[in-house]
Amino acid sequence: MKLASTRTPALRATFLEAARRGLAPDGGLFAPVEVPRFADAADLLKLDFQARSAEILHRFLGDELSRSDVEGLVRSAFTFPAPLVPVRPGLSALELFHGPTLAFKDFGARFLARVLALDAGTTPRTVLTATSGDTGAAVACAFLGLQGVRVVVLYPAGRVSPLQERQFATCGGNVLALAVDGVFDDCQRLVKGAFEDPDLVSRQGLTSANSINIARLLAQLLYYYEAAAQVGGDAPRVVAVPSGNFGNLYAGLLAQATGAPIHRFVVATNANRVVPDYLDTGEYRPRPSVATLSNAMDVGAPSNWERIHALFRGDHDAMAAALRWGVRSDAETRQTILDLDREGYLADPHGAVACGVLQAQLREGEQGIFLATAHPAKFCESLEPTLGREIPLPRALSDLLAKPLLCEPLAADQAALKRRLL
Ligand SMILES: *Cc1c(COP(=O)(O)O)cnc(C)c1O
Repeated sequence: MKLASTRTPALRATFLEAARRGLAPDGGLFAPVEVPRFADAADLLKLDFQARSAEILHRFLGDELSRSDVEGLVRSAFTFPAPLVPVRPGLSALELFHGPTLAFKDFGARFLARVLALDAGTTPRTVLTATSGDTGAAVACAFLGLQGVRVVVLYPAGRVSPLQERQFATCGGNVLALAVDGVFDDCQRLVKGAFEDPDLVSRQGLTSANSINIARLLAQLLYYYEAAAQVGGDAPRVVAVPSGNFGNLYAGLLAQATGAPIHRFVVATNANRVVPDYLDTGEYRPRPSVATLSNAMDVGAPSNWERIHALFRGDHDAMAAALRWGVRSDAETRQTILDLDREGYLADPHGAVACGVLQAQLREGEQGIFLATAHPAKFCESLEPTLGREIPLPRALSDLLAKPLLCEPLAADQAALKRRLL
């Protein structure tokens, strides 16, 4: 697969180079120069998840990886299901939280870790990642114990849930958790800054496991096919994506471009509404993030928007025509959680944002699917008061509570990060 930077089309990379680097050297993001179109998409739907995923990835990566390498990656990365759970006729949830850290980010992080391990001769020594909650856990867990790689997780101190923090800050070993005195955008800025420092990049073999890394997004494309396969029928499929950094939506748009039978995407955000406002007005105005119930989506300067913008060649009208969108406040999200609970479906705040926007945007005769991106128990602190009852913790989470936190504080300052990394 040939990739080019969103900022300098002449700046090319192979898939393995792009996975190794994360960010392009000009500060842009790597995106496929050409998206393949699968004329047999309908036949692909008949395969099971593993066989279909290996086939799709082979078509993207066949020029760099052997079929058996691709099959091995798929087998070892995707060891858990992505069930489509009906909520009521015409509405279902694609549950993406059945991996080891109980959020959809396991798909991308586990695939990326295995791609980098395949490429062992040039394995980077430091994987630097900023997290608003779930990325840190997925990345730490995916890389924990991998030879010759150090994982450094930056997160906003006091702004991730205690359970989320325990998922990445209790690992130890080759995982270092840095609690940044700031918000998620500060963490993201520090990571970007580190990648613009050639000294750090070359001396530390720095790479990123954030969704700026194309390997993660390629893995996420696979479950959009899975959603289409499970829903069946002929009704137009409308998929709502709870969005923060917009990697998940980009992966969905890629899946659609390859021919996955998805009629339309619904962009769903919380009060961090930079993209919905852009779609409304044509004016793109990043701004500081605000804290919400769905904290993994508290992003004021979404890094993957650059890729989506490039995919539509910057044509605002085309984007506005292709997408639907909406914003949900915390109060509305709580109401959606209560409404769904009454129907027998327990949603986490992120899935609930997507469901709320979807319900407002769905038209007669369409089949609505919202992405349930995290296990509700990860957010029991906010869900329990809303629901008025306890949510049982799955074993993967309850075991963590007994473990000590191994994080270090860090000022939101580029020089401080550099000192800590060297
Ligand atoms: C990261 C995350 C999101 C946002 O995904 P993006 O790809 O950044 O838009 C949504 N929900 C949960 C639970 C997440 O962890």
